[in-house]
Amino acid sequence: MKKVYTHAVVGAGIVGLSVALKLQSLGNNVLVLDKETSPGKHQSGRNSGVIHSGIYYKPNSFKSNLCIRGRALLLEFLEEENIPFRLEGKIVVDTDINKLSSLEERATQLSMENVKVLEKSEILTLEPYCKFDKALHVPQAGVVDYGVVTKKLASKFQSLGGTIEYFQKIKSIKTKNDLKILESNNSIFHSEFLINCAGLYSDNIARLDNVEPELKIIPFRGEYFTIAEEKSHLVNNMIYPISDPDLPFLGIHLTKTVDNKIEAGPNAVLAFAKEGYNWSKINISEFSKTIFYPGMWKLGRRYLSTGISEMYRSLNKDVFLKEILKYIPDITKKDLTPRIAGVRAQAVGKDGSLIDDFVFERKEQSLHVLNAPSPAATASLAIGEHIVKEIG
Ligand SMILES: Cc1cc2nc3c(=O)[nH]c(=O)nc-3n(C[C@H](O)[C@H](O)[C@H](O)COP(=O)(O)OP(=O)(O)OC[C@H]3O[C@@H](n4cnc5c(N)ncnc54)[C@H](O)[C@@H]3O)c2cc1C
Repeated sequence: MKKVYTHAVVGAGIVGLSVALKLQSLGNNVLVLDKETSPGKHQSGRNSGVIHSGIYYKPNSFKSNLCIRGRALLLEFLEEENIPFRLEGKIVVDTDINKLSSLEERATQLSMENVKVLEKSEILTLEPYCKFDKALHVPQAGVVDYGVVTKKLASKFQSLGGTIEYFQKIKSIKTKNDLKILESNNSIFHSEFLINCAGLYSDNIARLDNVEPELKIIPFRGEYFTIAEEKSHLVNNMIYPISDPDLPFLGIHLTKTVDNKIEAGPNAVLAFAKEGYNWSKINISEFSKTIFYPGMWKLGRRYLSTGISEMYRSLNKDVFLKEILKYIPDITKKDLTPRIAGVRAQAVGKDGSLIDDFVFERKEQSLHVLNAPSPAATASLAIGEHIVKEIG
């Protein structure tokens, strides 16, 4: 007899597993499907590892609310599960004091305590080698390894009786007799409800479920360098630029990871495949869909020079180095070793807009997470909570 799950979640990333864990803990019988061999193989295991405070996002947006709530839930989870993390704050630097002051005001609106613009002497107490004269201190920021968090979510979910099936690339979705029938390369699964958390492929999965999203996921690779250990004293915690509201993912930052390595990055380079982790990974079919998407032409026209300079920096270590040297001194090319890159699943509208907020599309028997870029790792447990409330 066929087994019917209450919910099938496509995607064993941090978002899919947060949703699955929440549903399973409420007594449902949940199935998670992923095409890979283990959890967190894509964005969830290939990111900056920053626990975001929520200060950057438009108040009352999904990003703002779910990041703030998600950070609180994440910290509880990390404590409970003994997952290493550090919460030592970041400094956000800029040459324009007005930008820093307006972020400080936003922190007040959001009731974030002790966020303040620093004097140069205070900057040097926190980051003795920082070259900027103006900065905002955000003590709520921290670091964790989200790959570890994702694996823990998976094992907790399984310990509550949840099922994860790996090596299952979903290729077709049908609805019959009030059931969702999901067909992979080698099996068929049945569930009453479907939740699509497929990250870079969430638009494709939505289409399989007869949902035509008003957006397309465009893959933007983020590359990093690890700075040599003997230079790790040059950064204590995190030095961040202020993000551009139109291009929120632009601007490399310096981060001391949870295992005390200093990383510089990420840049944002158009990838030639959804999982295009380096220049040589090309998927002609996926890339042609990207470049023939009308939203991509409009985006390209608007930000052509930015796109070209991101590509140039990716191909030229000297340019990346120059960016790092804006923040701190004494780094040379030989201090930089590439680390694994990540690819962001960034939704782009048909009008060429980079869709900033998280996007959830609810249908009768399914819910599709159509845009969950940064800070969705920080927000993941709150996204799980939100989705469970949404589907009732
Ligand atoms: C470079 C970079 C830096 C970032 N930095 C941060 C940060 O510092 N802090 C932060 O909070 N967020 C950060 N983010 C964002 C964060 O990592 C993501 O928002 C989050 O991991 C998204 O999780 P997800 O579960 O939606 O997607 P993913 O982790 O990508 O998971 C999607 C899963 O779906 C599976 N899948 C896809 N298609 C199919 C199919 N057809 N069948 C079966 N399975 C399928 C994939 O194998 C994958 O496991 C960063 C992201 C990137 C890329």
